[in-house]
Amino acid sequence: MYDFIKFIEILNKDDKQDSIKNALNSIKDVFHFAKIVADSQARQYYYEYVADEFNPNYVMKHTNRDIDYYFYQKDDYIFNDDELKDIKMILSIISLHHECFLLTKKAKENELISPNTKIPNAQGYLINVNKLAERFNINEYNSYYINIRGFGLINKIFGSKEGDKAIISYAKALENFIDEDEVIGHLGGDNFTATIKRSKHQAFIDLVTMCPIKVNNQGKEAKVNLIGIVGYIELDSLKSDHAQFLSEPSMACQYARNTKKIVVKVTPELLDMINDAKQVERTFKEELIKGNFVVYYQPKFDIKSGKIVGVEALTRWNNNGKLIPPGMFIPVLEHNGEIVDLDLYVLETLCKDIHNYRNQGYNIVPASCNISRRDLEVKDIENKIINIIRKYNVFTRDIVIEVTETTNLEENARLSKFIEVMHENGIMTSVDDFGTGYSSLSVLRDFKVNEIKIDRSFINRDILNNSDEIIIGSIIDMAKRLNIDVICEGVENTEQAEFLLRLGCKNAQGFLYSKPLPKLEFEALMRKIGTVYD
Ligand code: C2E
Ligand code: MG
Ligand code: MG
Repeated sequence: MYDFIKFIEILNKDDKQDSIKNALNSIKDVFHFAKIVADSQARQYYYEYVADEFNPNYVMKHTNRDIDYYFYQKDDYIFNDDELKDIKMILSIISLHHECFLLTKKAKENELISPNTKIPNAQGYLINVNKLAERFNINEYNSYYINIRGFGLINKIFGSKEGDKAIISYAKALENFIDEDEVIGHLGGDNFTATIKRSKHQAFIDLVTMCPIKVNNQGKEAKVNLIGIVGYIELDSLKSDHAQFLSEPSMACQYARNTKKIVVKVTPELLDMINDAKQVERTFKEELIKGNFVVYYQPKFDIKSGKIVGVEALTRWNNNGKLIPPGMFIPVLEHNGEIVDLDLYVLETLCKDIHNYRNQGYNIVPASCNISRRDLEVKDIENKIINIIRKYNVFTRDIVIEVTETTNLEENARLSKFIEVMHENGIMTSVDDFGTGYSSLSVLRDFKVNEIKIDRSFINRDILNNSDEIIIGSIIDMAKRLNIDVICEGVENTEQAEFLLRLGCKNAQGFLYSKPLPKLEFEALMRKIGTVYD
């Protein structure tokens, strides 16, 4: 038998197809070798290497999986049995090597593909977008970062299998939209990216911010609109850094989420503002002492009577005369853990005000303040809250603590304990921004919450349709069955208010009734329209 060690060594030198050529050349004379062909009908794959003039009748065929390998000689030499065995060995070795090469290639491709949607993942997207930038004028393109709003709820209502299918449908819609000179990516979960010609901007926004998909709702087909929250940038070839393809649109998307907007464009002002807000990290303690964090009050209303049923305390930062909204600085304070100082400060301000209102003979409506999820990491946060309420002789029933949904099980357990302690002490709790987190419906079942506040993104659009009705209706029905109050935030017009009433939601908060007001304006409004307790 021929000594194949050298042959294999050459073959393994590198993993390129070149090594096959080199190895075959090394046996050219011994085996009268002229040509080798690898041919697969099914996979539409064809590879041949011709070293010499060849005799059209192949000497041997060898099949590995669905690929046929053919060995051709350069003359009419008659091989003996041993030599034929050696040729069989050559074909087997080549086919194995080849299979290995194809598998590695496939694995490399898979590394760049999102397994669920089969579109490029972050890495694949960046490779494609860089290739695009080399071939086309990127000044004519926009890059987008898209996060689907309230996707957790789709999973909870329809099941995670339907959720996966919904994501695939969304990806398909993107795929169908793009041309060959445009790219998309799926960063996993409910996050997508895209680089699209600017001339198609509006059409793209229309598609991603209102994408109807079909889901199976207990055996029946239902239509649900997936709403993409979008951050985007107009690309500029003069900016050499690649932050503009991914991280800046993602910052704009994050900003859109924090400030509850649907589409936000990256501008130098926005990037400045995000940077400015980071300042709070340095100056927070000082600013808090100076009283530069002010509390605004936004009433909650009974839709039918138009009277006030409650009020929510919302912070603003007066930064040298510029009123900064909480969406800008709260994420920073949450990041460094200082948010608890702000939250307790707001609670204390609220308690002082309630104390004064009681002294002035007002009827008190339950007043809520927001507690960050990060506060749950603070030891004894429950007692800190209870002590502040006691310090000002405020009835516990006058206070509502708004919490947001958690993102993982551990946090969930902590939140559950927090709500339990609040409940035992007669302090009401409300789940804020309901529907945007990942634990939505289990919160209702397992926690002793008094109220849920449906996130404003669910009703915040021009036309409310059947698919909105399914989602909002399911939330309201479920809450009612569990004896939990429902309020909807962000109500801006009478159609939305009527829509909510029709679905059984009695309370609302939003610009239709009142913006968050400075304390004195809130007092004036309360005197003017009265509360349900009057
Ligand atoms: P949130 O608790 O969900 O408060 C509702 C937000 O929606 C407020 O934004 C309010 O101004 C806004 N809003 C109310 N009605 C409407 C409407 O009809 N249309 C629109 N477009 N918006 C409406 P704001 O005051 O900017 O607060 C944003 C978020 O910041 C709050 O969302 C809350 O999560 C957080 N936040 C505010 N103050 C505090 C605080 O003291 N502590 C903590 N931890 N978070 C706070
Ligand atoms: Mg709130
Ligand atoms: Mg909210």
